[in-house]
Amino acid sequence: MNAERPAKPLHAEQRAFPLVDGMLQVGGMALTRLADRVGSTPFYAYDRALLSARVAHLRAALPPEIGLHYSIKANPMPALVQWMAQLVDGFDVASGGELSIALDTPMAVGHISFAGPGKSQAELRRALAAGVMLHIESEREAATVLTLAAELGVQAVVSVRINPPFELKSSGMRMGGGAKPFGVDAERAVALMRHLAAQGADVRGLQIFCGSQSLDAQAIMQAQASSFELAIALAQQSGIDLRILNIGGAFGIAYFPGDRPLDIAPIGAHLAQWLPRLKAALPSVQVVMEMGRYLVGEAGIYVTRVVDRKVSRGQVFLVVDGGLHHHLAASGNFGQVIRKNYPVTVVPRQAPAAGASVPREVVSVVGPLCTPLDILAAQMELPQADVGDLVVVFQSGAYGLSASPTAFLGHPAAAEVLV
Ligand SMILES: *Cc1c(COP(=O)(O)O)cnc(C)c1O
Repeated sequence: MNAERPAKPLHAEQRAFPLVDGMLQVGGMALTRLADRVGSTPFYAYDRALLSARVAHLRAALPPEIGLHYSIKANPMPALVQWMAQLVDGFDVASGGELSIALDTPMAVGHISFAGPGKSQAELRRALAAGVMLHIESEREAATVLTLAAELGVQAVVSVRINPPFELKSSGMRMGGGAKPFGVDAERAVALMRHLAAQGADVRGLQIFCGSQSLDAQAIMQAQASSFELAIALAQQSGIDLRILNIGGAFGIAYFPGDRPLDIAPIGAHLAQWLPRLKAALPSVQVVMEMGRYLVGEAGIYVTRVVDRKVSRGQVFLVVDGGLHHHLAASGNFGQVIRKNYPVTVVPRQAPAAGASVPREVVSVVGPLCTPLDILAAQMELPQADVGDLVVVFQSGAYGLSASPTAFLGHPAAAEVLV
């Protein structure tokens, strides 16, 4: 394939999707062709080859003994989860709905785990009947699990989720491990582990998850070292033979200008250094990393079409047919403190003639919702676009459609395709 790269990438990660003769390619086909195939805009497209390449890239950096789990929460599209089933070693689910999606895949139930506070009795019953591992989030949940397992006549397979006394350092600021609704405070973990084991549960291990969306390799390595030390201490104090130590992920992706992609090589080397020491202290243990965003975030785009182009007091607005109801995160309303633009580009209906230069202009891309929050790009320099052209939001494979208020304002649903 004669793939050229965008002359002026707005963002390094945009280059994951190549240009051929000036046309963005997704899943090996021109985006305009894909839009015709989907039949309507807006839609999300996820690229299988990019998903596979991402997992291979990560595996190449990590020691081979590390298990890699996909957190379905990041993108629960069933076809995508099916695709991930052959790439990763396990799934982590955080609801009964996600459990159903995971159980429909070829993933062995022994490699599916279920985390999250406030699991309902119905969810716990289903998970026990399926035989998946439950991350225990409280003493009350432990008691419920033991009762339900007895009713069902099964042995509960559990790990205890720990609220550690430390936290992933972010942007130079270190917060002490504080009060959290997630997991059981480390100080109470030994008692809970012993109680579960004494009551007949199969206590497989621990989950220590201390953060998300970090681009700071040093901070991640520090949190991993602290997690290993904590796990060794808890295993020794409880006398329980840990077989699974889930240390979370925390790997972030670069969204905004100035974000530097996470350097995973030193993290892999640091894990390789730790493994012999861990093996000595915890001979049966397998280390598992679970993550969502890092695996799928860069493999997805959100595609909208320009329905109006207007000028207001000198500023150009491209009004597109999609917005925050499908992609809350790109609008800046999903946890961001200061709104920043996701990487966005324009794909014209017709690829420009070879050698033709498309003029650029500063525009704001807004959605059809009657609220000033519905912004996909504010004051961004883009190739000039008009009605009918496509506007593409990159870095949209994680926390996109399923993390958006799709009922707000009653606009049509977005399609999702895996290509
Ligand atoms: C959300 C979540 C993840 C995934 O986080 P990412 O930032 O998408 O990698 C992993 N583990 C747990 C327990 C979670 O709640």
